Amino acid sequence: MRRLAAGNWKMNGSTASLGEIRSLLADHPDPGCEMLICPPATLLAPMAALAAGTALSLGGQDCHQNTSGAHTGDVSAAMLKDAGAGYVILGHSERRADHGETDQLVAQKALAAREAGLVAVICLGETGGERDAGRTLDVVGAQLAGSVPDGASAANTVIAYEPVWAIGTGRIPTLEQIAEVHDFIARALNARFGSAAGAIRILYGGSVKPSNAGEIFAVPHVHGALVGGASLKAADFGAIVSALAAF
Ligand code: PEP
Repeated sequence: MRRLAAGNWKMNGSTASLGEIRSLLADHPDPGCEMLICPPATLLAPMAALAAGTALSLGGQDCHQNTSGAHTGDVSAAMLKDAGAGYVILGHSERRADHGETDQLVAQKALAAREAGLVAVICLGETGGERDAGRTLDVVGAQLAGSVPDGASAANTVIAYEPVWAIGTGRIPTLEQIAEVHDFIARALNARFGSAAGAIRILYGGSVKPSNAGEIFAVPHVHGALVGGASLKAADFGAIVSALAAF
């Protein structure tokens, strides 16, 4: 299994930010793990020009569930692919919260991504209130059952466990809590998809930084990270890539 360091730039970045990608590529020509950046859709094409022939993969941050049509402001999976993406993040907690995305919609989007030849990075995670109420595994299990469509395999799916309360807060779960949820996800994937699930990568996301990446990557069933804030600077993301490559 090739481990994956994925960066989610969210609604950040302009053409001036392409310098970070140049630095990342210059410092990590042969990173020893898979390196993925998901910029705003506006930057996919210019980033793809920089990434051509390098170890850097690119992804979108969302796609529409339909292939085309009257959906003002939306982007289809095929459009992302055409602009240079190989991946798309789906069901991020910010989209679930800001746009009311349901598990059912995320699953539809994942099928659209698969149809277009993109790998879906499907995000799951409990809120702080749900964790405090002891409902973490119930919530993550329900999201996984509802958001991951039938036919998932390592070729079309990555799972990102992102506790909502850890995103952008500087707080992370204990390593035992991360281990518990990743083990739970691995078992759930195996129960549903059998041997096809064995190589599906399960990323941890939520306040991953150079200073905590190594200990998180040592947790069983953590196959990489989905990184928000720390992916915006080549030096920080590069340090996380190096930490992952050490495993
Ligand atoms: C994210 O939004 O996917 C994320 C993990 O953000 P951060 O690393 O900033 O917590």
